[in-house]
Amino acid sequence: MKIIPGKRNDSVLFYHNGFKYLQDYQCKKVARCSYGKSGCKATLHFVSEIEFIANFSELNENVDFFIKNNHSDFPEEDADVWRAMKKVMIEEAETTNEKLVDIFDDVCSRFPEVAENHIYDSVRSTLSRKRSLSRPNIPDTMAELGADLIDSIFMKAAVKSINGKTALIFSTNDLLIGLSESDKLFMDGTFSRTARKPKMEQIYSIHFKTNNTYIAGLMILMENRDTEMYNAIFPG
Ligand SMILES: [Zn+2]
Repeated sequence: MKIIPGKRNDSVLFYHNGFKYLQDYQCKKVARCSYGKSGCKATLHFVSEIEFIANFSELNENVDFFIKNNHSDFPEEDADVWRAMKKVMIEEAETTNEKLVDIFDDVCSRFPEVAENHIYDSVRSTLSRKRSLSRPNIPDTMAELGADLIDSIFMKAAVKSINGKTALIFSTNDLLIGLSESDKLFMDGTFSRTARKPKMEQIYSIHFKTNNTYIAGLMILMENRDTEMYNAIFPG
C-alpha cells in the first residue's frame, strides 16, 4: 500500500496492486476505486480510521485492510504513479521559485516507495525547460527591456547616451518625494549583481536617510558607465 499524489493540491490516493482509491469522506475507513465514477464497485476497507494510520507502507492486505468487490477497470503500473509525481513536480517548477532539486526531494519524500527507483538527473532537464517556458522572455538588450517596461509605474525614465547606450531609472512617486525632501543623498554603484542578460555594467542607487533608516530612492540599471552615460542620466 502506497499513497500517491492526487489531482488537487495535497490530496492523496491510496495505491495498491496497480489500483488507485479515493477516500470516501462519509466513511472514515473506506476508500473507493478511482474509476468508481465509471462504474467500478471495488472498495478498500481499512481496519482503522484512515486519519489515524501513520505508515501505509506497513499495512498488510487481509490483515489491516480488505478489498471488496472486483474491479471493472485494469491495474496500472508504478510508471503511472511516477508520471503523476512528475506532473506535480512540473507544476511546482512552473508556479514557484523553489529550487528544482528541492521540488524533486519534496515530492519524492511524500512518496518514497515509488521514488526510490528514480534519480534527480532523470527529471532535471524537463523541470528546467518547463520552468523557463513558463517565465516571460528576458529581453536581449537594455533598450528592449526599457521598451517592455514603458508602461510600468516603477520605471520613471529610459535615457540614451550619445553613444547609444541605455539606462533605466526606477523609483516610485513617494520615493521621489523622499529624495527631494532629503538634504543628504548617498550614491552607490554596484557591479556584482548586474545581469548578463540584458547586458548591463552597473546598478546605480541613490539612498536617502529618514528616521535613521537608509532607503533606496532610485535605482538605475546602466548598460555602461562612461562619462556620456552619466551625462545622459544627470544632465546639466
Ligand atoms: Zn476499480
